[in-house]
This record gives sequence, structure tokens and C-alpha cells, in this order.
Amino acid sequence: MDKNMKPATVAAHAAGTGDPQSGGVVPSLQPSTTFTRDDDYKLHRTDNIYSRDDSDNVRQAEEVLRCLEGAEETRLFPSGMAAIAAVFRTLPNNGTAIVQSGIYWGTTAWTRDFCARREIALIEVDADDLVAACKAKSADLVFVETPSNPWLKTVDIQAVKAATKGTVVVDGTAATPILTRALDHGADIAMHSATKGINGHSDVLAGVLSTRQADATIWGTIKADRKMAGAVLGPFEAWLLIRAMRTLPLRVERMSQNAQTLAEALLVHPNVEDVFYPGLPHHPGHVVAAQQMRGGYGCLMSVLVKGGRTEALAVVGKLKLFLRATSLGGVESLVEHRHTIEPHTGIPENLIRVSVGIEHIDDLIADWLYALD
Ligand code: PLP
Repeated sequence: MDKNMKPATVAAHAAGTGDPQSGGVVPSLQPSTTFTRDDDYKLHRTDNIYSRDDSDNVRQAEEVLRCLEGAEETRLFPSGMAAIAAVFRTLPNNGTAIVQSGIYWGTTAWTRDFCARREIALIEVDADDLVAACKAKSADLVFVETPSNPWLKTVDIQAVKAATKGTVVVDGTAATPILTRALDHGADIAMHSATKGINGHSDVLAGVLSTRQADATIWGTIKADRKMAGAVLGPFEAWLLIRAMRTLPLRVERMSQNAQTLAEALLVHPNVEDVFYPGLPHHPGHVVAAQQMRGGYGCLMSVLVKGGRTEALAVVGKLKLFLRATSLGGVESLVEHRHTIEPHTGIPENLIRVSVGIEHIDDLIADWLYALD
């Protein structure tokens, strides 16, 4: 597709992917794990040998994401964590990684374990101190998550890039490539859990990495590792992802509008102590978010109700439309009491993490007003 096409067009046309054989406007699902050779033992198609290496549907989904991200190359993984692990596995033994603290707990827990096993110096730093830490200490890798889950802290990607010689990797799951193209802001690798907003229908686990520089050594290592160690996405998941991404810009637009309106309504409610949402002007990361995010501030927010654990759980228990389930970025709204999941990390007991879906905003607000009453 034309490089200058807008994301809505790229997504709606799945980056020009159809099925030339049937004339279908959507790609066909090709689940074969192995591909034939002719009588001279030549492959019918040199790019299809065995589906652990690559397959049509995975390549097609990667092309959509590559276009949306403005990347040189993109690779899909079977989960967001598999994509993160692929990045960290490139670190040399005894290397150094600076990792933002207070990010998705799964990332923190895994990187701690991995770095300890590989004798990698792990420096965990709050979003506000990342630039200073990068200036003070040379690192092989700097891992950023913006906006962060569940604190909604924002990080100035350009400032981090300017402060380090290490590879800057940005987990932009809560923003999706529609709201933030991390590579445009200087990141070396953009990462997303495609399980969240990118797929958006709570029925596919996937992760994605995209690079600004296809000839970078780290990217070569990531690609080789994925291929040889087999951290690949299945064709059916890739096909579902292509189907889902056709509406990604629309979904992100609606979720962001809903989240902004809900955040504003909840902030002034007498039973709410605070709302963490980068779209709110009082949010400490609002200025950075306004520079770095285009077209909205995403679906994710955290609501601190007045009181403690009992009050928060009472609110969560009364919600009818917001389903009590982990994850974010789906078309249906979800809530989670994060303290129940990670009680040891300093998450306030009165914090309710909210993923806002695409339902009608009046119904979403009514549900919260009832629950807060
Ligand atoms: N990054 C963020 C910000 C997340 O919220 C999550 C999952 O919640 C992940 C990464 C991991 O993604 P996955 O669940 O697809 O492995």
C-alpha cells in the first residue's frame, strides 16, 4: 500500500492483503505447517518451508502492524510476554538493563527472575527518574512502558533516547500504534501486547515487536531467536488479528472518547479520591502525553475510590456492565482490583483499574454512578 496512507485506510484494507487466488477481499487462512517441493526438489515458494520459520498469515498480520507502526520490520510472537522475553534474551551475560518500575507486574516479575539467572544488572527506576538514570549509568537496554499499567505514568521517549546509548524499547500496549508510534519518537524497538487493544476482542494472545532499523544487530538476533527457538504465532491467531485490526483505529477512537468522558465524570464524584488518566489536565504526565499521543489517551485508567480495600471491592462488586476480569483493550469494559493480584507492590488498596470499551458512554457512566452510590 502507499506509504502515505492514513492508519484508518491501512487498517481497513489490511495493508492491501486479499486473496489473489480466489479474488477474495480478505486473506484466506492457510494453516499448513509444511510446504511442498517439486520433482527437482525446488520449493514451490522459497518463502514457505515450515511454518515455524514463517507463514503467509503471520507475514500478512506483520505487514499491517509494520505500516501502522511506521517500522522497517515487524515480528509477531505468541504473547506480549514472549515478545518482551525475546528482547531481553539478546542481552549479554553481565550486561545492564534499566527497566521502568511500576509497570505491568508480569514484566517486572519476569525481568527480575531472568536478570538474576543471567547475572544481568537490573536497575529499576520510576518513570520520573528514567532520564537521570540513563545519563548516570550506561546500559545495554532501556525498557519503558508508556502509559504505564496500572499507574498511567507517562515517559518522554525522545528524552530517554537522548540520554542513553543503549537500545530503547517501548511497551506501548496501553496506547496502541494508533495513539503513539514510539519509533517516530526515537525508540529503537516498539513493543505491544497485541492481546490488548490491537486485537481488541479478548480472543487472541499475541505480542509484537517493530524496529526502526532492520539492520541493527539486536534485531537480527531477535529474528534468528524467534525462528530457531520457535516463539511463533499460529496462522489462525494471525488471521484473527488481521480481521480485528481492520477496525483498530475506530475502536481506539471510541475507547479513548469514552475513557476521557468517564474519567472526567468520575474525577468530580464525591466518592472518588482521584483518577489516574493521562487525558486529564491535572495528571502529572498530561503534557508529555499530549505531545506523544495523537487522537486520544487510550482505554486504560485507574480510579481511586474514597476509603480502602472494602470500599473498592464493594464498588467493583456492584458494577454490572464492567466485567470483573483482568486484561485491557477489549471492546467490552473491564475492571480489576489490582491490589488483590499484586498486594506486595505498593498498589493502593482503593485502586480500581479500568479498561474502557466501546459501549455507549451513557451506559458506562450509569453503571459507575450506581456502583459508587
Ligand atoms: N505489557 C503490558 C503493558 C501488559 O498490560 C501486558 C499484559 O497485561 C503485557 C505486556 C503482557 O502481554 P501478554 O498478556 O500478551 O503476554
